Amino acid sequence: MRAKAFWLILVALGLGTKRHWHILVAILLGVLLGISFPYPNMLNQPDKYYLIHQFFDVVGQLFIRLITMIVVPLVVSSLIVGVSSLGDSRQLGRMGGKVLFYFLLLMSISALLGAGLALWFNPGAQLQQNFLANADTASIIRELQQVPNQDLQAMFFNMIPRNPIESLAKADLVPVIFFTLLFGAAVASIGEAGKPIINFFESLFTATMKLTDWVMVLAVPGVFSLAFITVAKSGLGVFGQLWIYAVVILLGLLIQLFVIFPLMLKFLARINFMNVYRAISEAIMVAFGTASSSATLPITIACMERRAGVSNRIASFVLPTGATINKTATTMFEVIAVIFLMQAYHIPITPDKVGIIVLFSIIASIGAAGVPSAGLITIAIVLNSIGHYEMDYLAGGIAMLWSIDRVLDMCRTVVNVVSSCTVATLVASSEGELNRDILNNHDAWTEVV
Ligand code: ASP
Repeated sequence: MRAKAFWLILVALGLGTKRHWHILVAILLGVLLGISFPYPNMLNQPDKYYLIHQFFDVVGQLFIRLITMIVVPLVVSSLIVGVSSLGDSRQLGRMGGKVLFYFLLLMSISALLGAGLALWFNPGAQLQQNFLANADTASIIRELQQVPNQDLQAMFFNMIPRNPIESLAKADLVPVIFFTLLFGAAVASIGEAGKPIINFFESLFTATMKLTDWVMVLAVPGVFSLAFITVAKSGLGVFGQLWIYAVVILLGLLIQLFVIFPLMLKFLARINFMNVYRAISEAIMVAFGTASSSATLPITIACMERRAGVSNRIASFVLPTGATINKTATTMFEVIAVIFLMQAYHIPITPDKVGIIVLFSIIASIGAAGVPSAGLITIAIVLNSIGHYEMDYLAGGIAMLWSIDRVLDMCRTVVNVVSSCTVATLVASSEGELNRDILNNHDAWTEVV
């Protein structure tokens, strides 16, 4: 049966002409092979498939490394090009305000949606107590305590780099964005004198996009390897008792994808969401494969500019900021995960606690980097906000959530990426910078990957 499915997928892989279908098939194939060649589940058991695992682990890591390598030069060059082309600071302020408004609006909607779903379905109540008690509490508390600076004042000041070069070197994207936005505005305001800088960054941006095209040659084997290793490591059996929790999260993600974003696109810009989703199909699949919205950024920008008809000015401003700030799926996930654990541990859930969870999940997801598992790590900020007693108590449960998080993370990353693309499309439309002829004319689209 499995062998049959394997061959069918392989044939489909050969037949499909478009590269994004190849990526989709590669993901499915990876999942299937991951189930067939699992990692040993006992520590002292030998790994029968050692060489296979080792090989695909290397290919997957290589792909992630290569696309991550592009992110810092891409964010800096695209933001400087984007901001300096916005012209005067009034225009920048207006556009920045608009983008921030959409980000906060979407994150608030998804936080409330998460709270609604978690309270309605009450997934934590179905768990058996001993399930959570088995968690490796000590190690997970240690891990969570390593999350630096959970107080708000420190978080705020960490946005401002002490030394922008240091932040660049550490690929600390929030302070990098803060500096780059101001620097781009300054370059724009000095007129002629700023031209050489703008030319330099324009060339850097174009060259980085070229590099993206080259790296994307590895997309199919890379995404296949990542899916294979993920499933081989975690298996699908881990869903066990956590399946209700997983289903509630997936339901929320689907509502965002197929109700909230489409309604916004329809009513605010008269756009059929399927056109946008088709335009960014490669970005969606790479997001799924890598579980990192930052790593997906080069492909997201390429799709939005070349196929969704969003101007370079808007794409290069909205998408890098979106990949760092706008994490609507992560916000919803954090709300659901915390309420789920409170239900499981019978901690009373009062309306004021729900309010705090909603608020702090927005803050925590803004603070979450666009990298795998960031959402689960920054959940410490939310747990902290509801009290130290709860934090120690609930941390044990997080160990269990960790076991199935990779697959959920892949799905959240897709929604995070689509969310930023939705905002970019809306802003482009309202600024008159959306080329609808390109967006609607699928036949003329060039391959991004
Ligand atoms: N992996 C997600 C992203 O890159 C963040 C998360 O863990 O929720 O968007």
